[in-house]
Amino acid sequence: MKIGFIGLGNMGAPMAANLAEAGHQVLGYDTAAPEPDGVSAAASAAEAAADADVVITMLPNGKILRSVADQVIPAMRAGAVFCDCSTVDVDSARAVAEQARNAGLGALDAPVSGGIGGAQGGTLTFMVGGDDAAFATVKPLFDIMGQKAVHCGAAGAGQAAKICNNMILGVTMIATCEAFALADKLGLDRQKMFDVVSTSSGYSWSMNAYCPAPGVGPTSPADNDYRPGFAAELMLKDLRLAQAAAEGADADTPMGALAMQLYRSFVEEEGGTGRDFSAMLPRFAEKSRG
Ligand code: NAD
Repeated sequence: MKIGFIGLGNMGAPMAANLAEAGHQVLGYDTAAPEPDGVSAAASAAEAAADADVVITMLPNGKILRSVADQVIPAMRAGAVFCDCSTVDVDSARAVAEQARNAGLGALDAPVSGGIGGAQGGTLTFMVGGDDAAFATVKPLFDIMGQKAVHCGAAGAGQAAKICNNMILGVTMIATCEAFALADKLGLDRQKMFDVVSTSSGYSWSMNAYCPAPGVGPTSPADNDYRPGFAAELMLKDLRLAQAAAEGADADTPMGALAMQLYRSFVEEEGGTGRDFSAMLPRFAEKSRG
């Protein structure tokens, strides 16, 4: 296939490189980052998109997605598919999908889970919103860039799945970290805490696969001085998107709201920027109740 790939940052570059390595013709564009091996350079987003069967975007936020969509959608061939893999607000995902459909294009929102390691290794999970035909067209590309693609429903359903998942992740990571900090103060050894909880009803991905305590459980960013991994500011972004969606849908999400507040304090006031989101454990460990 001919693929236009717009946004060649930490995630986009390895995803585009994997598509090129699998034999697809990839024309890439980024306002700042260089093209990875195997990806040709376009002079503009519109040029990257003009001849493509599928255009993939991997951009920082919904505002930038909307501006790139304005440039790219009029340039695309009828019948081609616009597939956004960024994490953005549900409203932007739906607006861009409608714009694409009105221009005679297929449209998908397909945010990912799996991080930079998953992008490099081609093991991402895609959560996809949009119609069946567009999903069928892009599925072979999801299979190269990832290990799983779940078609979640109509436009916006992929972003909805992503922010619900990450709201659970933010809440469970905080619960796991505050429980470790409490265990410390109760004199309970962290390894014993892990041995019990990881095989009891408090288990979760945060405890079992990504344990926030250094030297305990499988290797995780905690064992690398909390270098990300998944940076706290990216978790904050996703928790903000979840709260914006909850407000729009009139959903009561008190735990998600509190998780967002705690990550906002951590990132904006407590030096959490650039640290892994599991660095909530040393944050709680240093604090007292007052
Ligand atoms: P990044 O900042 O490394 O990459 C974004 C790229 O977009 C940059 O290279 C930037 O120059 C480019 N860009 C910005 N404006 C542009 C424009 N108008 N035209 C063309 N290019 C433009 O970010 P990332 O870590 O690659 O994340 C991309 C998306 O994936 C985000 O929405 C993020 O939330 C999501 N995501 C990231 C991770 C992760 O672990 N990094 C995990 C899952 C999802």
